[in-house]
Amino acid sequence: MTTLLESHSACLTHETPEGHPECAARLRAVLGALQCPEFAGLLRVEAPLAPLKAIQRVHPESHINAVLSMVPEQGFSRVDADTAMSPGSGEAALRAAGAVIDAVDRVMAGEAENAFCAVRPPGHHAEPEKAMGFCLFNNIAVAAQHLRAEYHVKRVAVVDFDVHHGNGTQAAFWDERDLVYISTHQSPLYPGTGRMDERGAHGNILNLPMRPGAGSDIFRETVESAVIPVLEEFQPEFLLISAGFDAHQADPLGGLGLTTADYGWVTGRLVEFARIHLDGRIVSALEGGYDLDALAEASAAHVRALMSGAA
Ligand SMILES: [Zn+2]
Repeated sequence: MTTLLESHSACLTHETPEGHPECAARLRAVLGALQCPEFAGLLRVEAPLAPLKAIQRVHPESHINAVLSMVPEQGFSRVDADTAMSPGSGEAALRAAGAVIDAVDRVMAGEAENAFCAVRPPGHHAEPEKAMGFCLFNNIAVAAQHLRAEYHVKRVAVVDFDVHHGNGTQAAFWDERDLVYISTHQSPLYPGTGRMDERGAHGNILNLPMRPGAGSDIFRETVESAVIPVLEEFQPEFLLISAGFDAHQADPLGGLGLTTADYGWVTGRLVEFARIHLDGRIVSALEGGYDLDALAEASAAHVRALMSGAA
């Protein structure tokens, strides 16, 4: 079995204003790290454009059209104070969502055991009717609904270890009994959501806020004592990961103090769970991570752990 790497050069053409942390250099750093010989065994695939009907399972058609209509012919347009679009942003957003959909298809077809989608714009802040927080469409939520619609997979879990709470995924999953969203994140921090008492309509949301500076030990204890037991109880048939690397101690936006080794460790725990309970089926998608060196190292540790699970 194999680990799949989905990306597309169009994801580099989503440009943001000078000095913006969510920049094309992030994706170049990730892809550069994955050029090392140890990653030669990855199955590398160019992400297709997401079909609109797949995005419509999360975002209303009117909202999709409104977002795409804001793509400027030149320069930048602003979705909100943090979120900008350039001429390449529309295709980048459709490739980012297309990557996770195609990765799900290939994992379900048995072409790969698991997958990492190195894409941008990220997705977990995008709510069904609101693009925000550097995110246009919610890639991972689209993948979850694609699994249910196309494969009759009933139970899907998303684990989100980005330093920020994924308000968009929480909103998309709120009323969905069979979609579980589990988030470790720093609190207080943008976007301000993610309290433990935000549980979803069916108790299907698990928020695990951590104080600034929590560090490796508290993170690992939280994963062992809360994330893994909830996954074991829910018994998902497919696991999706919102892989943000901005909880790293070097990150300029986060302050949780994680190390590169923590990303290899948490991925290894999720791979181990997935191999025991769901034939190893994981699709992971890049979310945040804004220190370029830390992002490169941590995403390499993440993919290394996915590959060791797929050996
Ligand atoms: Zn983040």
